[in-house]
Amino acid sequence: MKRLDPELRRLVAHLDVVRKQAKALGLFTNERELLECPGCGLMEDVTADGILITCREPDLGKDTGLRFAALNQHAFRCPACGRSVREPLPETGSEEAPPA
Ligand SMILES: [Zn+2]
Repeated sequence: MKRLDPELRRLVAHLDVVRKQAKALGLFTNERELLECPGCGLMEDVTADGILITCREPDLGKDTGLRFAALNQHAFRCPACGRSVREPLPETGSEEAPPA
């Protein structure tokens, strides 16, 4: 077991506190991709203020007050229909231009 430098440990602890505060405020901390339930269409969105909400068509941008519950690091449970939802893969390599 390697011991962390006390200063580094202090910084890590502080970062953890800040992240918890941001979560408590409902701020989206960009730790994962936004979720969308394939069952009922409930989807996450982030407002201009950085608040994580869930909404559904046609009321996009209108918070339902529901929040996806984490089952583990990459799986969540839809609060509306109870379906388990996997975190979408980060969008990578989508820069390819279609043939002209
Ligand atoms: Zn659902």
